[in-house]
Amino acid sequence: MTVTESSTESTSAGATRTTQAFQEAEARTAHNYKPLPVVLEHAEGAWMTDVDGRRFLDLLAGYSALNFGHGHPGLLRVAHEQLDKLTLTSRAFVHDRFAEFCASLADLCGKDMVLPMNTGAEAVETAIKVMRKWGYETKGVAPGQATVIVASGNFHGRTTTIVGFSDDPDAHDGFGPFAPGFTMVPYGDLDAMAAAMDENTVGVLIEPIQGEGGVVIPPEGYLRGVRELTAERGVLFAADEIQAGLGRTGKTFACDHEDVVPDLYVLGKALGGGVVPVSAVVADADVLGVLRPGQHGSTFGGNALACAVGTEVVAMLRSGEYQERATRLGEVLRSRLEALVGHGVLAVRVRGLWAGVDIDPAVGTGREVCEKLMARGVLAKDTHGSTIRLAPPLVVSEADLSWGLDQLEAVVRGE
Ligand SMILES: *Cc1c(COP(=O)(O)O)cnc(C)c1O
Repeated sequence: MTVTESSTESTSAGATRTTQAFQEAEARTAHNYKPLPVVLEHAEGAWMTDVDGRRFLDLLAGYSALNFGHGHPGLLRVAHEQLDKLTLTSRAFVHDRFAEFCASLADLCGKDMVLPMNTGAEAVETAIKVMRKWGYETKGVAPGQATVIVASGNFHGRTTTIVGFSDDPDAHDGFGPFAPGFTMVPYGDLDAMAAAMDENTVGVLIEPIQGEGGVVIPPEGYLRGVRELTAERGVLFAADEIQAGLGRTGKTFACDHEDVVPDLYVLGKALGGGVVPVSAVVADADVLGVLRPGQHGSTFGGNALACAVGTEVVAMLRSGEYQERATRLGEVLRSRLEALVGHGVLAVRVRGLWAGVDIDPAVGTGREVCEKLMARGVLAKDTHGSTIRLAPPLVVSEADLSWGLDQLEAVVRGE
């Protein structure tokens, strides 16, 4: 079918149910988001349908939580089967889906063990706790003195500890007092990181590519440099691959582009297949082994439904199919976007099927561009004012991706 025609047709038919449904939602929710005025009802693959029957190409994929697309048949089958058998036991008891999930995810990462949680922020908190505990027990840091080095422009989640080391005023301001023990250095600057390290430094926590920051790719060799520096100085390296990992960049992990293996993988988003929240910290026994019963946990962490879906996600990544698609379609994305530089676009950064597009202010704000894209049947999200992040589901067809990029091109060229 010609998706172009169907979406234009239904757009012009008007948004009768949307306006009311949108206003109802806004009336009774905290305004911690500013959603585009669309109310979605159904989705399959890379396409979503709203309450008025309009179709939209999803170029955000739930910030990479939907790497495998909406309603992936394999994931839905596993989830449906598990729903009828067992969903939650708490970890006071062991369930039959737990061991396989932990073993398969640990193997995917080349590590010994897994600590499952639910959301990304919880996995980041877990990594911080583990690095501190390791610092006191293994490295011998004096009690209460452990520090973790983080990078400017970071995004690691929304807990009070995490926003305390964010330099984004929206995320940070008004939520203090903040937890001490974090040192910020410029992202991509190895010398600054080396200078910031002392005997109390227990870990470095960075995103191998900064997603929320606008798909910011560090200079070539940075991740290798962080790996060498941390190894030399007896400091743990935690890579927050929550948005960058699990196929998005064309490799299983963004660190793979520099053949780097961090001490801790921090995973989330796509690990739950867009079905349930699943996050995890994956590391070797000398790191995760510092935790003993009662020292950390989560009621829902590692529940049976999450493990069933997560195991299927790992199996899908094992096939290599999604990484291959991200690489191949990423080349289409790159060549199309690079052609727009100087034509309504100031700069683009692309790694795999993931791009940050800096919009020329003369064209409008990122938000305005996203509104115009929506009117053309494409859903995307701005970040930091003038940047649009493109992260289509990795299952998107080349034709649909091209069509979506046609819409972006028309908008930035002012058509
Ligand atoms: C989204 C994200 C998080 C937080 O994940 P939540 O599931 O929203 O808590 C942490 N780190 C990175 C890099 C992310 O993109």
